[in-house]
Amino acid sequence: MKILFASAEAYPLAKVGGLGDVAGSLPKALKALGHDVRIVLPKYQMVRDVKEDLGSFSVAIDGSRHEAGLRMSSIDGVPVYLIDYPPLYGRPKVYEYEDDGKRFGFFCKAILDFLPVANWWPEVIHLNDWHSALSAAFLETMYSSDARYQRIGTVLTIHNMQHQGLFGKEVFDWLGLPPETWSPEGVEFFGQLNFMKAGIVYADRVNTVSPTYAKEIQTESYGYKLDGLLRSRAGKVSGILNGIDYDVWDSKKDQLIDQRYSKSSMEKKAKNKAALQEEVGLPKDSRAPLLGIVSRVTEQKGFDILIPALPQMTKLGAQVVLLGTGEKKYEDPIALIAKAHREFVAFLKYDEALAHRIYAGSDFFLMPSKFEPCGLGQMISLRYGTVPIVRATGGLSDTIVDVSADPAKGNGFTFETYTPAALLDATRKAIDCYRGGRGWKALVQRAMTRDLSWGASAKEYGALYEKVLGS
Ligand code: ADP
Repeated sequence: MKILFASAEAYPLAKVGGLGDVAGSLPKALKALGHDVRIVLPKYQMVRDVKEDLGSFSVAIDGSRHEAGLRMSSIDGVPVYLIDYPPLYGRPKVYEYEDDGKRFGFFCKAILDFLPVANWWPEVIHLNDWHSALSAAFLETMYSSDARYQRIGTVLTIHNMQHQGLFGKEVFDWLGLPPETWSPEGVEFFGQLNFMKAGIVYADRVNTVSPTYAKEIQTESYGYKLDGLLRSRAGKVSGILNGIDYDVWDSKKDQLIDQRYSKSSMEKKAKNKAALQEEVGLPKDSRAPLLGIVSRVTEQKGFDILIPALPQMTKLGAQVVLLGTGEKKYEDPIALIAKAHREFVAFLKYDEALAHRIYAGSDFFLMPSKFEPCGLGQMISLRYGTVPIVRATGGLSDTIVDVSADPAKGNGFTFETYTPAALLDATRKAIDCYRGGRGWKALVQRAMTRDLSWGASAKEYGALYEKVLGS
């Protein structure tokens, strides 16, 4: 099948979070299954690896023709089309600009407009999150009478329901979508333009990144006001668990860590722990359980319950290393706690290499998320034999089995209630298991055994594309 994979991020060209990981690895796995898959991405300033110039094409918006360049790059043999339009993308960051509505609205139209110049026509366009979701609305309305576009099916993957791409009516007017789409049955959402909603309405199939999250977003607590719409389209909604990229995350080959190790050379993991303690300035104590956190510092990731629990964790004798950046309201108290407790260190920045060393050097990985569409951190840590302590929600529920509840199959520790006390309780159990020794080694071995590669999930995506073409 010919698949165009549209995303605002794709590792290693541009990554902010999990979406970048997925867009950098799922297409590779689809290619390995024999599909002709290509990625389309805006050419931000940080995207420097341009291999070819395919000329230019025009995007008709707001009564004028905007000339954009079409460049070509690749990620491990997967071709990447780059939409080169410096007025909107020639900036240092991927997101968080005032005109993001225009930036990604333009992208949604450009995804369709570059195809004649590329002279390559996909059978399915796979849209990812709100940044590309509006393409489905363009395709089903303004492009529906063009035979070349009529045959194209669409899949929208929701990686995070919280971010829907909400903008004022002026963005809708600027983009020039047909006036009849400005309705509650179309792209309008309480007086605003909602990109994600447009995708849910107009895409042939909608999926999210874990089976549990697919159910959760159809409820009021997780649906961010789109649960009703999703329930009404339940027949086309499904969940497919993400995988992780084994080329990037492999303790046996990882060049960014101190010592490479496997299930049968766990003594080397202990050396990674010592190296990490040294690097981050934690007391060099091989027996202290070391808890790692690599995360965006936002409400979603559970910082409201984590911050009050941090001092208590150090009282339990644990060491904690945190890597992450995000909201000031969380970063400030984190910095204060780090000053007061030598067993807690925090690096408030983005650092790919340090992330690898935290996954490899920690005994536990903490992920007390308020909600979690899939979560990659817990999967990466399983692969590194670092036992996850997670809140049972979304993809965390689908990947982590609590070992106290199921000693034979358990691969981590989970808790349900969103409180510091519940998090601490799970942490206490985890530390007891680590200190008690019994069952600990088997737990770590089981964690490392689970297949988390993209193989199985890529096949599920293949089946989903077949359904789209079949309909
Ligand atoms: P989300 O996409 O919601 O941020 P995921 O768990 O799905 O969460 O993916 C997060 C990805 O980003 C993981 O690969 C994680 O290692 C990485 N990451 C998050 N914060 C940082 C950071 N500060 N430095 C390096 N990598 C980070």
